Amino acid sequence: MLRTLEERDIRFVRLWFTDVLGYLKSVAVAPAELEAAFSEGIGFDGSAIEGFARVYEADMLAQPDPSTFQVLPWRNEPHGTARMYCDILMPDGSPSYADPRHVLKRQLSKASDLGFTFYTHPEIEFYLLKGKPEPGEFPEPNDSGGYFDHTPHNSAHDFRRNAINMLEAMGISVEFSHHEGGPGQQEIDLRYADALTTADNIMTFRLVMKEVAMEQGVYATFMPKPFTEFPGSGMHTHMSLFEGDRNAFHEPGAEYQMSKVGRGFTAGLLRHAAEITAVCNQWVNSYKRLWDNAAASAGAGGEAPAYVCWGHNNRSALVRVPMYKPTKSNSSRIEFRSVDTACNPYLAYAVILAAGLKGIEEGYELPPGAEDDVWALTDAERRALGIAPLPQSLDEAIRAMETSELVAETLGEHVFDFFLRNKKAEWESYRRQVTPYELQRYLPTL
Ligand code: GLN
Ligand code: MG
Ligand code: MG
Ligand code: MG
Repeated sequence: MLRTLEERDIRFVRLWFTDVLGYLKSVAVAPAELEAAFSEGIGFDGSAIEGFARVYEADMLAQPDPSTFQVLPWRNEPHGTARMYCDILMPDGSPSYADPRHVLKRQLSKASDLGFTFYTHPEIEFYLLKGKPEPGEFPEPNDSGGYFDHTPHNSAHDFRRNAINMLEAMGISVEFSHHEGGPGQQEIDLRYADALTTADNIMTFRLVMKEVAMEQGVYATFMPKPFTEFPGSGMHTHMSLFEGDRNAFHEPGAEYQMSKVGRGFTAGLLRHAAEITAVCNQWVNSYKRLWDNAAASAGAGGEAPAYVCWGHNNRSALVRVPMYKPTKSNSSRIEFRSVDTACNPYLAYAVILAAGLKGIEEGYELPPGAEDDVWALTDAERRALGIAPLPQSLDEAIRAMETSELVAETLGEHVFDFFLRNKKAEWESYRRQVTPYELQRYLPTL
């Protein structure tokens, strides 16, 4: 790292961390300060960061993690800029209870006590818009393509190529990319990695997409549902547990080749799905994606899950167990589909892992899979099958989270309380708005 600093004439090193709501924070230091940063951390006012500290215990330290050192490819000339992710420490050097990265690390070490490494591979969807809409303006998609479209002179194509080159230059491997179902909607899938690396990579990913978009004069948005009439943007995540180099979800000869560990993990996700929804889908707008009945019943590429069930090859299910190729035992995995791109990835992966581990530890039974399109069933049919809905609004999700021991324990008291308080305030400010929809619908006749 020190050699790179010198060779690339790096004048600034950005120290990155993430607040509780999932916004990236950055402080730039001169290379001369790095030694102190590694040994003691760089001090900052935690009370000025969303969700970090109470005013009377504001001092916090950011300590860079050297394994995350990367040169920023969009800031190359004439002097380079590099970045590292940080762990947040209290003045006494202990990990901060408010640091989302620490929340995930704590859960990962719980998994490792049970002998597991948690691997994740996200499918990240987002929209490219013609520009950043001014307040009151409607967003305008940057192209009119659809699912898997490949047209010559398509600017989305150039965008994805530039974006992927930039990700690869930062050590982030991309597995697939394609145009998604909505006009202007893109998907880029990252190669699987341990969940901490994935969460860091998702934070970098969002910034890289914004930078590349800016370079091309367009705007990238991770808002879960920017258009009423087009599908939302999800972040389906494929996941597996490994014991050493063996995939613990795989068992040759078992149904779906899925081991007891895989079944328990899936059962845990289903049993705790409602409680973890507020963290996986943290905005008022997230629920417009999950509950887009019209898009779902029109088969219009909505395909966001709204009901708690699992399926073998069922794209309306919350958890999908893809067909495993028996020859590729290490690719055994499950796909969790509710989480959206605008979550805090550290917190989301922490609660997802906690739910899955709980299912393994408590030996939850996996209910039968749903092989129907659960959107097409009636409420009564779903009830008869034991299929519950996910929370239908941020308000319902908050209520389900509030009484969850699992989420309280996973986030820790401070993050749990801050998150709930913040989300209640968001819900209340939304609820009192008189919207254009209401004016159009009611004013002419009432
Ligand atoms: N956009 C859909 C969602 O929000 C997913 C579409 C797909 O990848 N099949 O979950
Ligand atoms: Mg996909
Ligand atoms: Mg997709
Ligand atoms: Mg998917």
